[in-house]
Amino acid sequence: MNKVVIVTGGGRGIGAATAKLLASRGYAVCVNYRSDAKSAEAVVAEITALGGQAFSYQADVSKETDVVALFDVTEKTYGHATHLVNNAGILYPQSCLADMDVERFNKVMLSNVTSCFLCSREFINRNKSTGAIVNVSSVASRTGSPFEYIDYAASKGAMDSLTKGLSLEVAAQGIRVNSVRPGFIYTDMHADGGEPNRVDRLAPQIPLQRGGTPDEVANAIAWLLSDEASYVTGSFIDLAGGK
Ligand code: NAP
Repeated sequence: MNKVVIVTGGGRGIGAATAKLLASRGYAVCVNYRSDAKSAEAVVAEITALGGQAFSYQADVSKETDVVALFDVTEKTYGHATHLVNNAGILYPQSCLADMDVERFNKVMLSNVTSCFLCSREFINRNKSTGAIVNVSSVASRTGSPFEYIDYAASKGAMDSLTKGLSLEVAAQGIRVNSVRPGFIYTDMHADGGEPNRVDRLAPQIPLQRGGTPDEVANAIAWLLSDEASYVTGSFIDLAGGK
């Protein structure tokens, strides 16, 4: 069977590393992005230059119509998606909860949780046999991210519950649902959080004494999607250097 994967937020950071790794392992890849077309196209160019299969597609995965279109286009291009990586996510500048407005809180939930719900539902409804989903959560779901972004941490906590519940609903039909929980990975996300050098600042407090790379997270995602993880579902792999 052809392996077809949708990687949401596949144009940059962890998503880009995952898209490239999966393409090198024979998946046809839909590289989804929200606004940075140039980065997504660069990922596709890198994959196709190496003989892999990929195309980029703009869709805001917090919107239902965009998600339906994302799956429709993927299906038309490569056949129905057999694998899904719910990777798209955002955070806003560091702040105490007391100073957060409701618009910010709701936007984080829409981008990080509603997107995961919508893409998972679309995947399940179109995929009646086997398949696998990996949700990219965060170590923040355990720590709560006080004084930084409790909204973001809460969205990842919701994602963890979604992972667990859905894994049990679809296990008998042969669809596996797992999660990775990274922390302190070198990507642009920390600049969005208001502190581009956050990973370097925290490195001395991380048991492994350093930040992680997008490739290290991609390796775990690829393993969870693969047949090597055929008896793994409802599980979480923490990638946070021991934190
Ligand atoms: P990143 O470099 O900022 O990349 C985020 C990606 O998500 C971008 O490609 C962005 O698209 C896409 N995106 C955001 N909202 C979207 C939407 N509504 N629809 C479609 N795409 C959307 O971040 P990253 O660090 O690689 O993060 C990837 C995932 O890892 C996130 O879920 C994040 O929470 C999680 N994570 C990261 C860390 C870390 O230390 N970096 C730690 C724990 C968890 P555009 O390129 O078009 O903007």
